[in-house]
Amino acid sequence: MVGVSVLGISGSVGSSTVKVLRQFRDQFSLRSFSVHSNWEIAKSLVLEFSPEVICITDPKLVGQFGDSFGSTKILYGDENLSELVKLPNVAVVVTAVVGARGVLPTIAAIEAGKKIAIANKETLVTFGPLINQLVAKHKTLMVPVDSEHNALFQLIERETRSNIRAITLTASGGSFRTLPIEALEHVSVKQALNHPTWSMGPKITVDSAGLINKGLEVIEAHFLFGFSFDEIEVVIHPQSLTHGIIETLDGACLQYTSHPDMVYPIAHSLFYPNPTPQMLIERKPSTWKTLEFFPPDTKRYPGLDLAFQAGRAGGVAPCIYNAANEEAVALFLEEKISFTTIPRLIESALNQITNVFPETLEGYLEKDKETRNYIQKEFKKGGVTT
Ligand code: MG
Repeated sequence: MVGVSVLGISGSVGSSTVKVLRQFRDQFSLRSFSVHSNWEIAKSLVLEFSPEVICITDPKLVGQFGDSFGSTKILYGDENLSELVKLPNVAVVVTAVVGARGVLPTIAAIEAGKKIAIANKETLVTFGPLINQLVAKHKTLMVPVDSEHNALFQLIERETRSNIRAITLTASGGSFRTLPIEALEHVSVKQALNHPTWSMGPKITVDSAGLINKGLEVIEAHFLFGFSFDEIEVVIHPQSLTHGIIETLDGACLQYTSHPDMVYPIAHSLFYPNPTPQMLIERKPSTWKTLEFFPPDTKRYPGLDLAFQAGRAGGVAPCIYNAANEEAVALFLEEKISFTTIPRLIESALNQITNVFPETLEGYLEKDKETRNYIQKEFKKGGVTT
């Protein structure tokens, strides 16, 4: 039995992980998990899997449900996420919490020698150089769960590294791929949340609509696989069937294609280095019909170019990109700014905040905070926000 800890179990990656755990009950046991505020889900999963410890992270709910439920211990707050991953009989940690708050439990898991199924892209984007140092020091096995990176991980592993000329991440193009560009200024939150192919949480769905999710993924790919920003490409692929492509020196392109369901990369990351032992969903290539690929339109998706700029600048620029985006998306979801203001705020933060190259976590956290304050200040001033 392989012990599993899932941080953020009620989200979309978390619930797909539960599906995989149910399918392989004889091989994995859920030892700990966190939810932000969804007690109903937490309760039913405790009854089903009897984990040792769970954590509820919403600060408004501290103490609300006592300190145990049956034989399961209940902890509260982000600061206790690290306790979940350190349990001696946890071997794999799935980090599926959203945002830069995933970093501390990820570091705790690395230091405790666990295998990491990383589904929290913000941790790598924001703290990439630091996480990579720790991964190297502790010889951590880190398997990406993000569908594109998991596909690329599997392709890269099968090819000689020096024979790979470039890697390509596919993007569905999000909710507004075919909307006239002039109309983007006035789209509603509800429209942005209507993703054509993937069913995901609100933050990542908004990120996808502006290709900022892809921007974050480009930076994530850089830190995961060590390719330079000139060797990473993005292609719009509306069907979301091909998730990653590697181009070899001779010009051939190898694609990883599967039905768009997160159970594939999650099962792969749980079983790795062993193969997933059985078919998860039966979808034959003959049912796919069309696979289309287009270059991304930079006018429609200005946030993608900003990610390449931030990635090339290095230092805390990716951290600024991520923090500015998290704040701006929250403002958009509260209907306080327009959709097109999101990349404008990110650009402004990248231009105004001084880039540095910190050696400690605190250095990154400081810039993360400075960026968030900057965005709130800009919003109140009404400068770039109208
Ligand atoms: Mg993805």
